[in-house]
Amino acid sequence: MTATALSAAPATSRPPLRALDGALAELLSHAQPLAGTEQVSTFDADGRVLAQDVVSGLQVPPQDNSSMDGYALRCADVATGVALPVSQRIPAGQSGASLTAGTVARIFTGAPIPVGADAVVMQEDCAVQPDGSVLIQSAPQPGQWIRSAGEDVARGAVVLSKGRRLTPAALGLAASIGMHVLTVARRPKVALFSTGDELIMPGSVAPQDMPPGAIYNSNRFFLKALLTRLGCEVSDLGIVPDNRAATMEALRGAAQSHDLILTSGGVSVGEEDHIKPAVQRLGHLDLWQIAIKPGKPFAYGWVDADAAQGAHFIGLPGNPVSSFVTFLLLVRPFLLRLQGVTEVAPKTIAVSAGFTWARADKRREFLRVKRQPDGSLALFPNQSSGVLTSAVWGDGLVDNPPGQTIAPGDTVCFISFAELLA
Ligand code: AMP
Ligand code: MG
Repeated sequence: MTATALSAAPATSRPPLRALDGALAELLSHAQPLAGTEQVSTFDADGRVLAQDVVSGLQVPPQDNSSMDGYALRCADVATGVALPVSQRIPAGQSGASLTAGTVARIFTGAPIPVGADAVVMQEDCAVQPDGSVLIQSAPQPGQWIRSAGEDVARGAVVLSKGRRLTPAALGLAASIGMHVLTVARRPKVALFSTGDELIMPGSVAPQDMPPGAIYNSNRFFLKALLTRLGCEVSDLGIVPDNRAATMEALRGAAQSHDLILTSGGVSVGEEDHIKPAVQRLGHLDLWQIAIKPGKPFAYGWVDADAAQGAHFIGLPGNPVSSFVTFLLLVRPFLLRLQGVTEVAPKTIAVSAGFTWARADKRREFLRVKRQPDGSLALFPNQSSGVLTSAVWGDGLVDNPPGQTIAPGDTVCFISFAELLA
């Protein structure tokens, strides 16, 4: 062999390993928020991303009101042993008159505090006398059982900011200031493909009739569910036909009407499949080896539909757990950013490990773990990237730095699936 032949990189050489943080930053630099907003009913806006600040036109609560059923009074009027006459009755939804000195007002939860009263005594602490007057049996403190006007929301306050993903509680807060319609980012349109000649769709072949070497396409199912949870409109384009022309046609068609084309499988170096060369012909494709386990191979690119339009392309690894974890770590923040979400990093918490991890890896690892009743973490025994059981058994990931072993009692960095899948 000549020196030239030795130094030339073989066609299938692996791209260098890259750190996750750098890869994510580069991926996010491509995720410009999508143009276009939508007006949706607050009732139907769960999970959508606000495209405008929500500003309150009123204060909440609108006025001081009672947080108990009981009696509104002036603290100064309460002298031990003296019953006070009831001068008015104020149910929720009505406003009373000014409180006459030396009297109490019968009041109910949510009813406005009458002018002059400075406390509410709950009815359990009062004894109604035969003549109808009320003996106050506990010394009231000024302000007790009163919810102050504006204590929740001040007039003019930004209660929900642009770029925030709406939760059920956020919908309630928006409704509490009278917002029945919200301006949100439009949903990303995602085309989902699977690749791999070994794949069989569940339902098309019974388990006992599966040919040797065949496996069911599991990735399609969790990827579709993950995309839907993240607010996407998903087109399932099935398994890509096994020839170059059909693959290019399918990709070009998808790029016309989608924001992202997502595939799983076939991004390992050296693998023969049609997606990679087709994406390269129609746009561009960068193959990355990300230094994480599971989940090393990853591809980002762009598919031109025509001169004016196109779609992002993301290729996930085929191994189910790699595909699942890579989606959560990279595709999730990408899709949130397309919708204009500002905070895309998942919250991590420091938790005590309840297990031993003796085999440190040179890659950053994401171990499937479960929280124990004592607050420590248990480890799923098989951390192989093909074992999807680990992701169902587990309720989150330990983000373990490269070269790090773990002993029971060590503090580790935990990311819950609840956080990632919300
Ligand atoms: P690949 O990334 O295509 O080399 O695939 C890696 C491994 O993942 C192989 O064992 C594939 O059979 C498996 N795999 C690829 N795609 C899927 C899929 N959609 N569902 C389940 N397993 C898959
Ligand atoms: Mg494959």
